[in-house]
Amino acid sequence: MDVSELIDGLNEKQREAVAAPLSNMLVLAGAGSGKTRVLVHRIAWLMQVEHASAYSIFAVTFTNKAAKEMRTRVEETLRSPVGGMWIGTFHGLSHRILRAHHREAKLPEAFQILDSDDQVRMIRRLLKAMNIDEKKWPAKQIAWYISARKDEGQRPKDIQAYDVNEQLLLRVYTAYQDACDRAGLVDFAEILLRCYELLCQQPTLLRHYQQRFRHMLVDEFQDTNSIQYQWLKLLAGNENNMMIVGDDDQSIYGWRGAKVENIKRFLDDFSAQTIRLEQNYRSTAIILKASNALIQNNAERMGKSLWTEGDQGEPISIYAAFNELDESRFVVSKIRSWLNSGNALQDCAILYRNNAQSRVLEEALLQEGLKYRIYGGMRFFERQEIKDALAYLRLISNRQDDAAFERVINTPARGIGDKTLSHIRDCARNESMPLWYAAKAVLEQKHLAGRAATAIARFIELVEQLDDKITELELSEQAKTTIEGSGLMAMYQAEKGEKGRARVENLEELISACGQYELPIDEDFSSPLQGFLAYTSLESGEGQADEHEDAVQMMTLHSAKGLEFPLVFMVGVEEGMFPSQQSHEESGRLEEERRLCYVGMTRAMDKLYISHAESRRLYGQEKHHSPSRFLRELPEECIEEIRIKTQVSRPVNSGRFSASVTHAAFEDSGYNLGERVLHAKFGAGTVLNYEGSGAQSRIQVNFDDVGSKWLVTAYARLQSL
Ligand code: ATP
Ligand code: MG
Repeated sequence: MDVSELIDGLNEKQREAVAAPLSNMLVLAGAGSGKTRVLVHRIAWLMQVEHASAYSIFAVTFTNKAAKEMRTRVEETLRSPVGGMWIGTFHGLSHRILRAHHREAKLPEAFQILDSDDQVRMIRRLLKAMNIDEKKWPAKQIAWYISARKDEGQRPKDIQAYDVNEQLLLRVYTAYQDACDRAGLVDFAEILLRCYELLCQQPTLLRHYQQRFRHMLVDEFQDTNSIQYQWLKLLAGNENNMMIVGDDDQSIYGWRGAKVENIKRFLDDFSAQTIRLEQNYRSTAIILKASNALIQNNAERMGKSLWTEGDQGEPISIYAAFNELDESRFVVSKIRSWLNSGNALQDCAILYRNNAQSRVLEEALLQEGLKYRIYGGMRFFERQEIKDALAYLRLISNRQDDAAFERVINTPARGIGDKTLSHIRDCARNESMPLWYAAKAVLEQKHLAGRAATAIARFIELVEQLDDKITELELSEQAKTTIEGSGLMAMYQAEKGEKGRARVENLEELISACGQYELPIDEDFSSPLQGFLAYTSLESGEGQADEHEDAVQMMTLHSAKGLEFPLVFMVGVEEGMFPSQQSHEESGRLEEERRLCYVGMTRAMDKLYISHAESRRLYGQEKHHSPSRFLRELPEECIEEIRIKTQVSRPVNSGRFSASVTHAAFEDSGYNLGERVLHAKFGAGTVLNYEGSGAQSRIQVNFDDVGSKWLVTAYARLQSL
């Protein structure tokens, strides 16, 4: 192909980056300016013009999905497949190196990944064994501590514990690491740290990779943490070239240890030149102007300006909802008209701050019969029944997998109680052996009561038999045999109702997922099952079943990074939600929330809706929120406020976004929103909200004397004033 094709579709600055001589380079630019596009074209340029082989290219992206897309786009640009190229996430690529050199990394061949659920469960077990009160030391918090230490590259021996609290954390960290090492398990943070240490300790190996990966490219660099930065630096050595692209204004993982300072560090450590892109190709002029105005409220930015040749576009619509139900009805009605005007659902995204916010929206979409897909929510491979089945498969392929053992030892129930289990755990701890072998040892010592002993013996026999049975089978047959032979299928079939049915369907779906799984040709897994188990841990959530169906895209603001959609809804933009409550308490967090808002807004290409609710029920509690401060930071001329029918003035909240509430649910209540009413006991008040219908309906009234109350409409006997 003609070289000019590689740079034709680029502006001057982009070309400068794509066609630069081999060197270290930072492309620093705001959202939608073509950073990711530059990265793709640079790879094609390296291969086409610099004659780099696919084998010498190493590209790091933020998600597996982004990695897949990048490979496809490079192949489309070059019009040929690029097999040997390493494109993946930090975790995916480190895992690949660990697999290839598991022995040097002191891991069993079939080492498994411990996901966050399993990690917490394991810590909980250790706390019990160590007599530490979980109420005072929640396992989740300890898991967080351990991961944070690993992200900083710290092993227990590197930590100085100055007070008793830290000493305790350190003790648990040490015990946890021992348990993981014994069982051949690695958690997410461990994957990176272990790989980093491996490369540090094995100079020959390091040299091999350094000589191989002549060209390194990193997208979304602003979100790298310490260990990721060290890892990249190590691999780059002194001779290789690295291009990083990023945007300090989109750094949103500080809470997880990401360090935006890594950008400046890179400039120093790599004597890199900086190229800035300033033209935005994604959003309308109005969306861009509003986003720029918002982010200007942050101090200490590296400073960028963005402009566009695009249309002005429509103003950003801000909807003041009454409550979360009203908000979701509003969103769904807009999506319905979007669909009815001939657009695709997949071009529209709903973005929220917390995963838990999705449920109400999901219900509204379901009611309206609109298909949706959630990224990063309850993922397929994280569902209970799927994890059960995978745990059997994991135990079959690696008897040392304690997390898997714990999960299935009494699932389905086979009469193995807590007492028997703690007996096995004690033995495992005393003898420093995996639970599986401890179970066998306990059995041989004949310490167990007859029934318990029989149950354990049966379980051991079951797993051994399944192992025997499936070795020669195809992957999907292996899964089928295991799911049936283990009794899981029968157990879930016996579960009544919709839920049980869904679980059985999911298990069937797992079998077919195995059937569709293709072992990556250039990776050395000892069996397809090994490959599949690694895939389920790393890729969960992205191979969703209905991938090809047209559906609304739902995700948290964090997972929307790097993506773009013609129509975007940002919901729940309220003080206390977004910015979140916690962000008031920690310094720097408010600015990070603002960057997150910037990321959300700049996902929109043509039209952006932002909504906030006056009252919201979440986690079982009703809360009143005022509109987010971020809304006040948007220029008036860029927005339009949507008010419906009635308006209620609430003296407590004044300000541009608090005076209006809407009127969506009121048609059949017999009352009007904002109407003054009289109650026999509570006195006079103003109607605030209404939900449900007929005998179940409830009405919310803000009484002048006693404040706001929800009343059953039928019994409230309100008199209009
Ligand atoms: P983010 O910061 O959100 O990751 P980005 O800087 O990576 O954004 P891209 O996703 O690469 O931006 O590009 C944004 C959009 O603009 C894409 O649809 C891309 O195809 C388009 N685009 C980029 N450069 C050009 C160009 N020179 N001509 C036409 N379209 C372009
Ligand atoms: Mg990008």
